[in-house]
Amino acid sequence: MLFSKRLIKGGVHPNGQKKLSNNNAIVKLAPPKRLFLSLKQHSGAPAKAVIQVGDKVTAGQMIATGQGGSANIHAPYSGTIESIAEHVAAIPGGGKQTMVQLLCDSEPNNNYIKLHHHYQSRAELIDIIADAGIVGMGGAIFPAATKLRSTLNKEIDTLLINGCECEPYLTCDDLVMQEQCVQVVGGVRYLLEACAAKKAIIGVEDNKPLALQALIDATSEDDNIEVQTLPTHYPMGSAKQFIQALCKVEVPKGKRSTDVGVFVQNVATCAAIYNALRFGNAMTQRVVTLSGGALEQPMNIEAPIGTLISELVATCGGLKLSAARIVVGGPMMGHTITNMHSPIMKGTSGILFLNEDELPQTTSSPCVSCGRCVAACPMGLLPNAMAELIANDDLEAAQKQGLNSCLLCGSCAFICPASLPLTQYFSYATTEIGRQKKMQQKAQLARRLNQQRTRRLEQEAIKKAAEKAAKKAARAAGGTRPQRSPRVPKTAKQES
Ligand code: SF4
Ligand code: SF4
Repeated sequence: MLFSKRLIKGGVHPNGQKKLSNNNAIVKLAPPKRLFLSLKQHSGAPAKAVIQVGDKVTAGQMIATGQGGSANIHAPYSGTIESIAEHVAAIPGGGKQTMVQLLCDSEPNNNYIKLHHHYQSRAELIDIIADAGIVGMGGAIFPAATKLRSTLNKEIDTLLINGCECEPYLTCDDLVMQEQCVQVVGGVRYLLEACAAKKAIIGVEDNKPLALQALIDATSEDDNIEVQTLPTHYPMGSAKQFIQALCKVEVPKGKRSTDVGVFVQNVATCAAIYNALRFGNAMTQRVVTLSGGALEQPMNIEAPIGTLISELVATCGGLKLSAARIVVGGPMMGHTITNMHSPIMKGTSGILFLNEDELPQTTSSPCVSCGRCVAACPMGLLPNAMAELIANDDLEAAQKQGLNSCLLCGSCAFICPASLPLTQYFSYATTEIGRQKKMQQKAQLARRLNQQRTRRLEQEAIKKAAEKAAKKAARAAGGTRPQRSPRVPKTAKQES
């Protein structure tokens, strides 16, 4: 079924650039010599390493356990733990993260530690997904099991599977849907069971005809799974817009999709869920798009988590010219990195090597009040007004204008004829507000602890004064001091 064009508010039509990388089959990377597994490759707290330097590990073995809402991490290959230390990471703003450095065996053995993957109930099914360390691979990197557990006490009507991949250049989901449609649909069936939804809809943009056909064929026997075609329209793949397009419901501000009876998951995550429940495989590999005009041969590579970006570039034949910008993720919502010696993580969908011609215009001019950013905003915000408030350092007023609802989708900046870096304003303001909130919380905690201490000291002083007064009163009532025991004089022998 193909919907009419206007399904979501606003949005833009950037040049897809999908053909650069979607013409060839997924390339499977040979086992790398070393892997760098970050302990923080999901939302929540960093995972806790459960191995030590020098330990021998087998493929599939858990090397770090999720804690505080995070996810388990497993060894993709057998090898030896060389170090657990800081290493450069492909994260926004650069910087380092603690990583487990695994020296892979020169001849990786074929043993793979399988997860216990039999279940009797929904809760046990979800536990297997948690054991496998599966996170949302569409960019959210939220542990899939945590999200699923939230459905145990909710009624879910529709399971939505996101195959939009609306960011330009990225084609990893497209290729996964084409080549691994059995795993994707298998994962959808498990998810239907896990969240007890009545039906599932797989939504795919119409610029992926091969993926659409593969899914239609793979679901021909499933009465409760539909495949629906959506128009190519950025940001169709953003969760709120995706739900709006397929279910015609809006998720109210401050609410989750499960509050409106919808559960959303990405196609590649479905394939990972299938591999865990069907075969007991933990999440140790993923498909990554390598693309951009500076890359010799753009392609999709299935690589173990922890592979260095430099090794993926070498597989693509290297760079044909120096990249003007390296972007992790898509060009609309991704972030820039400078160091190719950083590894891919569970949420790395693509790495782009863009040449000068592919970069947006960087010299901006004053706002001409054309209102195009307002028309393009899928959240119905006033990007021009918000940017002005942020430029004047009035973050409170920007919040009142709806900054908290901003998806950082980049549609406004993309359409702006003055090339104003609107998304950068909103990204800066969101980070700054988060930082200020954290500082306020810290100050509040310190104030509360100080108040508690003062109260305790006051109570102790009152208690001491009361005891002293009671003693004094007792002495006054007795008229004399309490008698001491009479001294027994020491004998001469004791003294000697
Ligand atoms: S980045 Fe924010 S303000 Fe700009 S279009 Fe997207 S949601 Fe609207
Ligand atoms: S699109 Fe750019 S120039 Fe036009 S109103 Fe928005 S900020 Fe101003």
